[in-house]
Amino acid sequence: MTATPQQDDCLFCKIIAGEIPSDRVAESERAVAFRDINPAAPVHVLVVPRRHEPTIGALAAASPVDLEALFALVAEVAATEGVAEHHRLVFNTGTDAGQTIFHAHAHVLGGKTFTER
Ligand code: AMP
Ligand code: ZN
Repeated sequence: MTATPQQDDCLFCKIIAGEIPSDRVAESERAVAFRDINPAAPVHVLVVPRRHEPTIGALAAASPVDLEALFALVAEVAATEGVAEHHRLVFNTGTDAGQTIFHAHAHVLGGKTFTER
């Protein structure tokens, strides 16, 4: 198993460790995917690196291999959820952008027509 720095007070680290339940849909050596507890679309899956970094930018800077693995699992989830051809991929960075959990994560959203930008 890869060395994966974790943070004790982080909800997503606890979900990754299995200490808090989640509806897990896929996983790999470096990333985990589970359904958002408050879905904003028929398909709303969060894809998170096992490595704790607060934002997607921090992950990119700290560990490109984990960034690559995150996108690989996003593609796998989009395919298995049936939204490979039509989905929205969102990364919120900072509270002003709506980030509430400071463990980097991708929102994979699909199964509806998005009209708003
Ligand atoms: P963000 O606002 O970009 O930080 O996204 C955090 C997301 O985590 C939100 O969409 C929440 O609905 C979701 N969330 C919070 N707690 C849980 C949980 N226990 N299991 C699954 N998703 C969660
Ligand atoms: Zn974490």
